[in-house]
Amino acid sequence: MRVLRPTDSSLVGELAVTPSRDVPERVARARSVQEGWVSLTPKDRERRLRGLVKALETRAPEIEETIVAETGKPRAEAIAEMVAVADLIRYYLKNATGFLRPRRRETGWLLWKRARVLHEPLGVIGVISPWNYPFLLSMNPVVTALFAGNGAVLKPSEYAPYCGLLVEELTRDAGLPDGLVQVIVGGGETGEALVRSGVDKLFFTGGSGTGRRVLEAAAATLTPVVLELGGKDAAIVLEDADLERAARGIVWGAFQNAGQTCLSVERVFVMEEVYDVFLREVLAQVRELSTGTGRGVDVGPMTTPEQLLKVEELLEDAVGRGAVVLAGGERADPASNVLLPTVLTGLDSSARVLQEETFGPLLPITPVKDAHEAIERANETAYGLSASIWTGDRRRGEELAGKIRAGGVCVNDVIAHYGVPGLPFGGIGESGFGRSKGPEGLAELTRTRSVLVDWLGMAREPWWYPYSRRTEALLRAALAWRLKGGVRGLVAAIAVVAGKRRG
Ligand code: NAD
Repeated sequence: MRVLRPTDSSLVGELAVTPSRDVPERVARARSVQEGWVSLTPKDRERRLRGLVKALETRAPEIEETIVAETGKPRAEAIAEMVAVADLIRYYLKNATGFLRPRRRETGWLLWKRARVLHEPLGVIGVISPWNYPFLLSMNPVVTALFAGNGAVLKPSEYAPYCGLLVEELTRDAGLPDGLVQVIVGGGETGEALVRSGVDKLFFTGGSGTGRRVLEAAAATLTPVVLELGGKDAAIVLEDADLERAARGIVWGAFQNAGQTCLSVERVFVMEEVYDVFLREVLAQVRELSTGTGRGVDVGPMTTPEQLLKVEELLEDAVGRGAVVLAGGERADPASNVLLPTVLTGLDSSARVLQEETFGPLLPITPVKDAHEAIERANETAYGLSASIWTGDRRRGEELAGKIRAGGVCVNDVIAHYGVPGLPFGGIGESGFGRSKGPEGLAELTRTRSVLVDWLGMAREPWWYPYSRRTEALLRAALAWRLKGGVRGLVAAIAVVAGKRRG
């Protein structure tokens, strides 16, 4: 498998593809190592996972180079991937043991029982990651799997396998058991072999179409999956917003990583009365952006030629339906794969760019008459990853946020919620299901075990054989108690038992 630099198509390196038939063996090896890993106490595991921070620190320059080489993204964005990873590790170092602690649960009317819930690892987590944040989106699920006590087998994108291989090296540098994390190399076929390999859960990040195929393949073995898929995020600019901040935020949200972010701003709905001023602000911001493949640019190349062609197709479709290009609209030069940051207005609602995930530097801006219409338009797509609302009234912003069909919403900010390690992240609808990060992300990679212990030791429980009138009376009393609840319920239960006695 040849890996090329998006900046100039030069060779990053060549790798042997892992044969699909070897994948189950790799999973089995991870499973045998995981058995030792899980026998450590959470505290012990935490102590060893601390080594990941040091390993990351040592290898940071190499990781940065690799991300830049494989994706072509600006260095600032490569460094940001590492910040998010380091932050998640720190967060779980501080909190994972607490999240996984056994918890007492109420026992209802069974007062002579004790109930606890334990959180146990699943075993081996299969991780399939995309090319747009190849280090972050490989590392975060693997780190979460490890904190939860699992092993992991990772299949990184065929466009960025070296970032994936670094994940395995980091775990080795950190002194984690050899084989606990393994990386397999290849494209869709290798990914599918991992889905079918008998992993205990599959954590997939990628496009919605691929997600569907993953779910179909996983059905054969009833392998549970987390699907982190595409998005079509809307930004809503209300009339009372700080328009300069909104424009800056939205321009960054649309064009960072050349728009190749699942959380990119892909549609903007602006109140009519501030539309002209907002548009002027956006265009002023866009004019300031530097583009190209050199060091220090703001907007770099598209990572894959296929993606570039798809974005150009959506642009052509929009223009064909009457859209006006106010900035960009073409490549920096015809031979390059840098598409200039593009601002579109006058969009027909049938334009594909308003429905399909663009995953490129296109920013369609549409005026709307009020917040109600903005919410309606925002909710028009089948995706539901995230959205942003820009307003001078934070309370109103939060209120409107509740009406948007999405897994996450920012008020007066954009994308930043992904950067908060304690906030669960994930989508609804075409954007997938399941959550990463936070306590919910950790829980996603564990299973619960419910434990009940009887501490009274009666000769027999009231509902055991033999059934008698007394059994019925006791259960009637329990029913009366649970239906009425509280002291009244207890009184009712006593009355039932007393009635039976009198009878
Ligand atoms: P993709 O779906 O083409 O590929 C993702 C991964 O799946 C790759 O590793 C690929 O080799 C593998 N794959 C392909 N076919 C497979 C199959 N049949 N079975 C198993 N694995 C298979 O996505 P991409 O182009 O690498 O990434 C871009 C997409 O990812 C965009 O749609 C983007 O929105 C989405 N994404 C989502 C999130 C999120 O967290 N929601 C984050 C980043 C990217």
